[in-house]
Amino acid sequence: MANKDVIEKDKSYIAHTYNRFNVALKTGYGSRVIDFDGKSYIDFGSGIGTNALGFCNEQWLEAVISQAQQLQHTSNLFYTLPDAKLAEMLCKITGYSNVFFGNSGAEANEGAIKIARKHGIETKGKNCNKIITLKNSFHGRTVTTLSATGQDVFHQHFFPFTEGFLYVAANDIQELYNAIDNTVCAVMIEFVQGEGGVIALSKEYVKAIENICKEKNILLIADEVQTGIGRTGTFLCCEQYEVFPNIITLAKGLGGGLPIGAILSDETVKDVLQAGHHGSTFGGNPVVCAGAAAVLRQIANSDSLSDIRQKADYFRRELLEIPEIIEISGLGLMIGISLSEELNAAEIAADCIDNGLLILTAKNKLRILPPLNITYDEINEGIHILKAVLDGKK
Ligand SMILES: *Cc1c(COP(=O)(O)O)cnc(C)c1O
Repeated sequence: MANKDVIEKDKSYIAHTYNRFNVALKTGYGSRVIDFDGKSYIDFGSGIGTNALGFCNEQWLEAVISQAQQLQHTSNLFYTLPDAKLAEMLCKITGYSNVFFGNSGAEANEGAIKIARKHGIETKGKNCNKIITLKNSFHGRTVTTLSATGQDVFHQHFFPFTEGFLYVAANDIQELYNAIDNTVCAVMIEFVQGEGGVIALSKEYVKAIENICKEKNILLIADEVQTGIGRTGTFLCCEQYEVFPNIITLAKGLGGGLPIGAILSDETVKDVLQAGHHGSTFGGNPVVCAGAAAVLRQIANSDSLSDIRQKADYFRRELLEIPEIIEISGLGLMIGISLSEELNAAEIAADCIDNGLLILTAKNKLRILPPLNITYDEINEGIHILKAVLDGKK
């Protein structure tokens, strides 16, 4: 089979919800992947931040295969070990009190919203159910997480949307302060707006949000679906902001490429959801959890995290040498690239892919979310391709 055969089959039978590139990927190893025509690529996208350890990492594979051979799934009517082990690891690494497992980022955010509403209603009465989110945020594709997403383009086609979200401009603490009244149960933020254009919130702003939330007895929810699991150079991004949100949601990088979402709860909210209040058939799946544990074993240690920070510095230094690049945004290995005005990021990304580099975009920027264990050789090779593509535009 060649790329065109796969693409033809996909177009005939898969719903047309994605604008895919004309490439069908077949096999990968580390930060390299090969398509059905035999062409090789360097991967600066890691499946949008999911393949935290690149393709087919050996320890991850071993964990997944060995669990699949023992017990692939039961149901949440029974206890299994891999989810309990993974939850213990997450709590010990982060200081959170317990974990709920689902299957995606949107689902983790839905659960966080349910916790916040139930907590608000129980502590302050049934009108205390509104959640403040930020303009330009992204929280997922379900009807409720689309509502939570502070971008008008996502509030179309699927009416009626879930009520109860208020949107305020990022980094404007006065606007947030003015939006708070006794009907607000939570504030939900991304530390670095990912899909919104790789824009980091200021530390003062995040600190001020935490202080207001404490003062007014409102929950702070951090959507770390993209920023979590070492992506920004600390295990959780909240560490760099020196805050401890009541709830953290995780997904993308956690499974190393298998579907998982997680809600971390602190002492205040750990018992809000009780039997019958929430659930998921596949949540806590043994194979997925065994894979996630292999991700944590390789990422959640000071050597790996310091390695990620060094690679992030290296990326930033090298990228800023390229004349067509005017600004680098984001944190750690979550990198946004602003190009000089005449260049179109989507076109550059398509050209990079033609030349053997998988790279992402976010709004009008190029976006790099490489595997966290990418090697310096792979980084250099990818940057070389990007440089050549930008050079060719002169
Ligand atoms: C990707 C993303 C989501 C949605 O995750 P899915 O797994 O696609 O549901 C939610 N929030 C943030 C910050 C994300 O980056």
